[in-house]
Amino acid sequence: MAGNYDDRDGKIWMDGVLVDWRDAKVHVLTHALHYASSVFEGERCYDGKIFKGHEHSLRLIESGRLLDMPVPYSAEELDAAKEEVLKANGLTNAYIRAVAWRASGPDMGVSASRNPVSVAIVAWEWGSYYGDAKWQGAKLDISKWKRPDPDTIPAAAKAAGLYMICTMSKHAAEAKGCSDALFYDWEGYVAEATGANIFFVKDGEIHTPLADRFLNGITRQTIIQMARDKGFTVHERRIRPEELSDFSECWLTGTAAEVTPVGQIGEHHYQVGQTTRDIAESYEALVRA
Ligand code: PMP
Repeated sequence: MAGNYDDRDGKIWMDGVLVDWRDAKVHVLTHALHYASSVFEGERCYDGKIFKGHEHSLRLIESGRLLDMPVPYSAEELDAAKEEVLKANGLTNAYIRAVAWRASGPDMGVSASRNPVSVAIVAWEWGSYYGDAKWQGAKLDISKWKRPDPDTIPAAAKAAGLYMICTMSKHAAEAKGCSDALFYDWEGYVAEATGANIFFVKDGEIHTPLADRFLNGITRQTIIQMARDKGFTVHERRIRPEELSDFSECWLTGTAAEVTPVGQIGEHHYQVGQTTRDIAESYEALVRA
């Protein structure tokens, strides 16, 4: 069992240099710590190849742009840094976390344009996100929090501030014996889980919420394309909570979650059925192709 995340062996890429893991520190007056000026990526490397690594680098840069926080590296430089980190730590199957944040500097108020933006890239071995729940079908709570209106927050960014309600919802879910929570959006439609997108099956067709108000996951986009290539009809649409009882299968998608079958949401039950298995197995094959 590895130690706490700040107490491990290895190297971390920080602003262009590899530093010892335990020395990858920031000051308490880091702007991001006070004002959530931070964006990040979660990626996976399978058998030495980062799945959609370049897309993740582009998304990090776009998230920074959306927060008026230009990431000071190109996607190609970020791609190279990720490779450097994997090599320095001798990893071929790993989770990769890239993070960009407003560092400490001359400003310590809300406005921070004079503070530099820092970037770090870390990689570590990491298995299944939902552990044993994966093939039994995860049990999801329904969060009391709602995904916010995109006019109130940059909903398309993978920004730290958007995860405040995710952590709170996941804690509440775990306290009830669930492994995750489903969010509705501010208008009451089904949205996503705390770190993954959601899909449903009804009469052999696939339904997933329109991703115009929460993170349009790279895994989500991959799965939609894969399902269409397999001949499935995929509906991207608004889904009402009353419909949760109409679906026969359900799964989550995300870099960490991969394709995780869902067995239960609140009082609604789903089978880990043929479509879920087909999609999950094809995704496993694709990421290692
Ligand atoms: N929604 C949220 C809130 C997430 O944190 C994630 C994980 N990044 C996803 C969806 C899925 O995104 P991706 O498939 O790009 O990992």
